[in-house]
Amino acid sequence: MTFLVDSHCHLASLSLEGKASDNIDGIIERASRCGVSHFLSIACTSEEFEKNFEIAKKYNNIYLGCGIHPLNLEDEPDWTDERLKTNLLSSNKVIAVGETGLDYHYAPETKDLQIASFVRHIGIALDVKKPLVIHAREAKDDTLAILKSENARDSGGVIHCFTDTVDMARACLDLGFYISFTGIVTFKPSDNVREVVKYVPLDRMMVETDCPYLAPVPVRGIENEPSFVRYTLKYIADFKGVSENELARITSENFEELYNVKLSESYCKTKCSEVSSYKIEKIMDKDFEE
Ligand SMILES: [Zn+2]
Ligand SMILES: [Zn+2]
Repeated sequence: MTFLVDSHCHLASLSLEGKASDNIDGIIERASRCGVSHFLSIACTSEEFEKNFEIAKKYNNIYLGCGIHPLNLEDEPDWTDERLKTNLLSSNKVIAVGETGLDYHYAPETKDLQIASFVRHIGIALDVKKPLVIHAREAKDDTLAILKSENARDSGGVIHCFTDTVDMARACLDLGFYISFTGIVTFKPSDNVREVVKYVPLDRMMVETDCPYLAPVPVRGIENEPSFVRYTLKYIADFKGVSENELARITSENFEELYNVKLSESYCKTKCSEVSSYKIEKIMDKDFEE
């Protein structure tokens, strides 16, 4: 098995600015040439869900997550459990509830609204029997307390774009959750995230872009896209002392385990092990020139 999943991206939010291809097909094509064969595209509002669904229709290798993001709650004050459940159950491509969670960094003023929404999302995840994608930023204590009190252990899930402490990671692992890392791990000031990478066992880890945000070094500064998950994979593989291929295999298996799906090598144009970082840069240069 040599494929790689971008376990958290926002395909409908790509501006495609500065890209050779002005459509999503080019982005998916390039990802597949970089060994990235599967995608979990996350919708943060009902409107985004429609857009992501349109994109995913054409591709069997794009899965969807659906929730109301803690920072989008004021855009969609009247969201209902029924509507969200309908979206979640509309297709077997929809495999995750979220992202949901708490963000006290950007929106401490909507704390109460965020808590209420988070609790509802966990209830919905338990109802529809799909795992949670959790966004947690500067809200460690409340996130853990709610995950415990609402029995999120039973739905399972992942803490995406993990930037918290080793203690938080340990508590999440104890609850049965996976921990997913973005390109933030490659940034110079991210020693705290690297501490967590050191701590988290490979069989509980995932990698993601969270594109269009957070492009990893060495492509930091341009719009992130799924193929760039290769840089984060390589960085973590080197850091943990395993091969890229091995880490791709393990993180793909973790994805299959959490979301109860079967991935297929057939979506991969190039084997992960055959793409060095050098070649990714070549692919990128070529695409920018085209
Ligand atoms: Zn997030
Ligand atoms: Zn996200």
